Amino acid sequence: MRLGALEAGGTKMVCAVGNEAGEIFEQVSIPTETPGKTIPALIDYFGSKNIEALGIGCFGPVDLDPASKTYGYITSTPKTAWADYNIVGAFADALGCPVGFDTDVNGSVLGEVTFGQAKGKKCVVYVTIGTGVGAGVCIEGRLLHGMLHPEAGHVLIQRRSTDSFAGKCPYHKSCLEGLAAGPAIEARWGKKAALLRDDKAVWDLEAYYIAQALTGYILTLSPDMIILGGGVMHQEQLFPLIRDYVKELLGGYIRTEELAHPERYIVPASLQDNQGIMGCLELARRAGLI
Ligand code: ADP
Ligand code: ZN
Repeated sequence: MRLGALEAGGTKMVCAVGNEAGEIFEQVSIPTETPGKTIPALIDYFGSKNIEALGIGCFGPVDLDPASKTYGYITSTPKTAWADYNIVGAFADALGCPVGFDTDVNGSVLGEVTFGQAKGKKCVVYVTIGTGVGAGVCIEGRLLHGMLHPEAGHVLIQRRSTDSFAGKCPYHKSCLEGLAAGPAIEARWGKKAALLRDDKAVWDLEAYYIAQALTGYILTLSPDMIILGGGVMHQEQLFPLIRDYVKELLGGYIRTEELAHPERYIVPASLQDNQGIMGCLELARRAGLI
C-alpha cells in the first residue's frame, strides 16, 4: 500500500509517503502557521502522491471519539489559530481517501510497537519530553483513548523542597510539563537545556521529576516497557538517574523481571526519531482497512 503520514506539530508539519512495512520513500517538513496557509500546502503535497490512506498524529487536545460531532477536530489547544479546527475533515474532503487520526504521542508509541523495540509488548508507554510533555499508551496493539486521551504530561509532581521555581504550566504550574519540559529547564536555570549538559544538579532534579511521573504510570498502567523521547532526552545521562529514582520511589513494592533489568525497561526511542512518522504510516494502514 502507498500510504501518507503526517506528524502535525506546533512548530512543524512532517509529511511522508511510505508503505505498511514502515519504509519511508520521501519526507518533507513544512512550518506550522495558520490552517489557512498550512493546510493548502499539505494538501498540495499529499494530493499529488497517489496515496491510498493518510495517517495523522496530531498535537492536542484532539477529539478521537468517532461518535462525536467534533471527531477529528483539534479542540482546546493554546495554539489559538488551530482551536476547534476540523483537521481530519480537511484532508478527507480534499484527498478523498480514508484518514486515520490520533495524538502525536499515540503515533509515536504505535511506531515503536509496530516497527521498533516494543514489538510484542503488552502495554507500552511512550513519553516525549520536549517543548511540552506528552505520553501515548498502547495496550495489546490498541491505542488508549477514554473520556479524551491520556494527558499524562500534566500529572502533578511533588516539588523538591530546594526547588523554588514556580513551574511553567499555565493550568497547573507544578505538573511534569510545568517543572520538567525544555522551557521549564531553561527558565529555572537561565540557559537552554542543551547548554547545561555538565551541570549535575540540573539532571538530578530533572530525573527526580520524570521518575515521579513514571512511578505513577507504572503503578497505574503496569506497562512492560517505557520509552522516553523528545529533545530533553537527548541528555542520555538522564536514563540511569531516572531508573535509580524509579527504583527508590517504588520502594521495593513491585518485583518483576522488568524492574530487575531497568536498562531494558526504561529505554530511549529506537527508530532514529522516525517513531512518530512511522506510527502515522500504521495509522494510515489501519484506516485503509476499514
Ligand atoms: P518539540 O517538543 O517542539 O516537538 P523537541 O522534542 O526537539 O521538539 O523539544 C524541544 C525542547 O527540547 C526545547 O525546549 C529544547 O531546549 C530541548 N532540547 C532540544 N535538544 C536538547 C538537548 N540536546 N538537550 C537538552 N534539551 C534539548
Ligand atoms: Zn500542566
